[in-house]
Amino acid sequence: MPSEPLHRLTLSEAADLLHRREVSSVDLTRAAFARIAEVEGSIHAFLTLTEDLALEQAREADARIGRGEATPLTGVPGAIKDVICTKGVRTTCGSRILEPYVPPYDAAVITLLKEAGLVMVGKTNMDEFAMGSSGENSAYGPTRNPWALDRVPGGSSSGSAAAVAAGMAHYALGSDTGGSIRQPAALCGVVGFKPTYGRVSRYGLVAFASSLDQIGPLTRSVRDAALVFEAISGYDARDSTSAPLETPRIADSLKVDLRGLRVGVPQEFFVEGMVDSVRSSVEAAIQQMEALGAEVDWEVSLPSTAHALAVYYIIAPSEASANLARYDGVKYGFSYHEGESMWENMEKTRQHGFGDEVKRRIMLGTYALSAGYYDAYYLKAQKVRTLIRREFDAAFQTHDILVTPVSPTPAFHLGAKLDDPLQMYLSDICTIPVNIAGLPGISLPCGMMEAPDGTRLPIGVQILARPFDEASLFRAAYAYEQATDWHHQFPPL
Ligand code: GLN
Repeated sequence: MPSEPLHRLTLSEAADLLHRREVSSVDLTRAAFARIAEVEGSIHAFLTLTEDLALEQAREADARIGRGEATPLTGVPGAIKDVICTKGVRTTCGSRILEPYVPPYDAAVITLLKEAGLVMVGKTNMDEFAMGSSGENSAYGPTRNPWALDRVPGGSSSGSAAAVAAGMAHYALGSDTGGSIRQPAALCGVVGFKPTYGRVSRYGLVAFASSLDQIGPLTRSVRDAALVFEAISGYDARDSTSAPLETPRIADSLKVDLRGLRVGVPQEFFVEGMVDSVRSSVEAAIQQMEALGAEVDWEVSLPSTAHALAVYYIIAPSEASANLARYDGVKYGFSYHEGESMWENMEKTRQHGFGDEVKRRIMLGTYALSAGYYDAYYLKAQKVRTLIRREFDAAFQTHDILVTPVSPTPAFHLGAKLDDPLQMYLSDICTIPVNIAGLPGISLPCGMMEAPDGTRLPIGVQILARPFDEASLFRAAYAYEQATDWHHQFPPL
């Protein structure tokens, strides 16, 4: 048995022990649930726990390992964001409107994970329909940051980030439409990776903004993120935007060498109001990459970045208003029946089923798409989207990766931005341009800062690469991680 408690192991470490038969999947699963019993009461990372299912899957995984048929994920406990459909297991999207919804099918990523030997501990808490940056928009109450229980874990993949940071799962899946994997990863001190748009099938991911949504892993190491990415990616005919490309094998060829890698630092991502420790930690991370042999250009400029937030808050709500039209109380979930007419029932279903932020987005999107406003808002936003993408294309002509902050601030207090949607939206200023352009992006720990009350809070750095060049992104992330110690920090729970 290892000297460290089992729940602290990375996915890779747990897999090594499993394959050497030093622990069983049932041991790891019991350890995960023991940890959940210990800390979940103060964190609230889960909306549904699936202990019986997990133990059954763990026994199957042990049998499979015994037959020598294991993959790196086989038998290692993981958690799934509650926006991803799981056959027979309730999937709420953090919303009242889907409270009773049990999907009759698995999302493509779940099918792939099951083929790889999934042990699912549960479904994680999230901002309702993935709209939010703090986890506070969940209809089931907020998740707390494992580093500071009076602070948010970030969002919308709040539960996934907190579960991994607190040792309740060795990895988790999240979804990222405007930063929802990377920003909570940064605020919780874990690794969060959004693949290139088109890499991972969106089949069975409940749609928020379909041209931006992408599924990806949250883990405690860069190698772990590569392993999960390899397992969940690949062409899927059921998603019309799925890319017909082979997924590169990354995890086994990671090396600590950045010689010749051309790194760009886009100035516009160091926004006004950014906390000094965030800026200095990210700059120190870039210097570390330079010391590892990278050629750093500190003067890259992407001027249209300034418009990314405005573009996002037209495009994402527009797509959301169309996607969320399906929740009418007829086909899925919560349904209001007491009305005088079918129309009243539909209205009341939506009135009671959706929370304030979701209603705000539906109204924004419906307005932006309405006759007379379409050209001024939606069409204009699409044009600026093209400009943003072209600027990234130009930067990637002369640079292999770009390095930026993830979030202008570390984890903020619960309630601090709840009454000010604009302040909340600004949390994603460094992550949103990446979805607009469809690029792969990773967030990884690069520092800790001390809050005025003495609490230590994690800081993240973001690495971006050309579409489908996840290999360069992982090369830089892994080399940096191995040269530093930030990923070994564990919250003092
Ligand atoms: N915070 C952003 C929003 O509220 C991004 C959310 C996401 O990536 N799902 O839209």
